[in-house]
Amino acid sequence: MPQDMFKRVELPKQLPDERRHNFSEVSLGYTIAMAQTEASRCLECPKPLCRDGCPVGIQIPQFIHFVKGGDFESAYNKIAEDSNLPAICGRVCPQEEQCEKRCVRGIKGDAVSIGALERFVADWYMNNKQFAPADIKQNGKRVAVVGAGPSGLTCAADLAKRGYSVTVFEALHKAGGVLSYGIPEFRLPKALVAREIKNLETLGVKFETNVVIGKSVTVDELFADGFRAVFIGSGAGLPTFMNIEGENLNGVYAANEYLTRSNLMKAYSKDSTTPIKRGGRVAVVGAGNVAMDSARTALRLGASEVTIVYRRGKDEMPAREEEIENAVEEGVKLQLLTAPVEVIGKNFKVAGLRCQKMELGEADVSGRRRPTPVKGSEFVLNVETVIVAIGQSPNPLLCRTTSGLNTHKWGGIIVNEETMESSKPNVYAGGDAVTGAATVILAMGAGRKATKAIDERLKG
Ligand SMILES: Cc1cc2nc3c(=O)[nH]c(=O)nc-3n(C[C@H](O)[C@H](O)[C@H](O)COP(=O)(O)OP(=O)(O)OC[C@H]3O[C@@H](n4cnc5c(N)ncnc54)[C@H](O)[C@@H]3O)c2cc1C
Repeated sequence: MPQDMFKRVELPKQLPDERRHNFSEVSLGYTIAMAQTEASRCLECPKPLCRDGCPVGIQIPQFIHFVKGGDFESAYNKIAEDSNLPAICGRVCPQEEQCEKRCVRGIKGDAVSIGALERFVADWYMNNKQFAPADIKQNGKRVAVVGAGPSGLTCAADLAKRGYSVTVFEALHKAGGVLSYGIPEFRLPKALVAREIKNLETLGVKFETNVVIGKSVTVDELFADGFRAVFIGSGAGLPTFMNIEGENLNGVYAANEYLTRSNLMKAYSKDSTTPIKRGGRVAVVGAGNVAMDSARTALRLGASEVTIVYRRGKDEMPAREEEIENAVEEGVKLQLLTAPVEVIGKNFKVAGLRCQKMELGEADVSGRRRPTPVKGSEFVLNVETVIVAIGQSPNPLLCRTTSGLNTHKWGGIIVNEETMESSKPNVYAGGDAVTGAATVILAMGAGRKATKAIDERLKG
């Protein structure tokens, strides 16, 4: 039992000086003793608010109860009733904004570390058990899923469990979406992502990679081929740029491209031939999770100095607090209340980033205080690489090539929020393709909602 029931058992981590030089996972996970001690803090509330805070409704007190008693297999099975990707969610979900935010323990102390316990259970299961799905009676109906990110994977797994024959079409050569190409190894080991995807194959889900729906084959052709419904989980992979002078210089990257080169194309590995700029001084523009991942990747690729450039203040930074702390501990600098105005070039290469200082004015429509430039405050940041991480939107390709599919002006697919069905009958959509860049668990929640509606429609 912990000395102090108000304090959580901290997750052990690699030390900052050590981890900034390697791509191994930063957070080391609980030991059995740590997990049981932390689990003993759960009050097992009869009306658990934590569960209401989870977009896929994991039975949190129930799984933690099994951890307390040392029955980790039952704990896993309890989580698996509601989530197909526990090792991933345990690592990257913003629990502090969801389940843990509602934990009663959090009123007078630290909330129970639900994410760390979920991760512990998923890792224990992977290391000690073989994933074995129950016998599933096939109904012979085919459903196509576009995109193998968390929304598509969840929809595919849930439909397969209900007996559908599911094929996932993925544009890249590897399944996982952002989990594979975006979030770096030091936060989410790729072997783990591959294992969770393997579980889906065990359920009977088929994957066709290197297929771009809308180019290789259209949604209408999928229906003609015999698919009865289509779920679109194509994400929001189209980068937003700053539209300032010099943005096309050699040495300016969109964060997605930079991270894809490092993660999916393995530029982080010493014997990789993937081109990527290593070393030197790097500016990362933006302050969300994507910016933190880019900054920390740049450090690990040998940058001498990495600076986050953000036009608002620390309180407005959208990244998870834990990731900001990790980045700062590792040596990433924060240049706040600052906006880039020009990328300075020399011989077609980046030779600096001209910036101006900002101050915060009245709140804008988003409720956040609007940054306004401070006159005469321009200065030059001496950098050779600029990584732009100021947002992504859905790629318009699918919508352009699918008849009758309505979208918002900014590109998001319009759906009925109850069923996730789009304006085109039997075409459903969810995740970032609908909401714009959001979170893994919200994408999973949307995939789950769509499954229910697809099942009801096809049964009917
Ligand atoms: C660097 C980074 C870090 C992040 N960190 C976090 C975090 O810590 N916690 C968190 O909760 N969220 C995080 N997010 C956000 C989270 O990853 C996304 O919200 C989530 O992955 C969205 O899932 P999705 O299934 O909608 O789309 P995606 O994960 O984007 O997957 C979409 C898939 O569809 C494929 N695709 C696209 N178009 C087509 C097509 N025409 N045909 C076939 N396939 C297609 C893409 O190649 C991709 O594999 C992060 C995002 C990024 C980029």
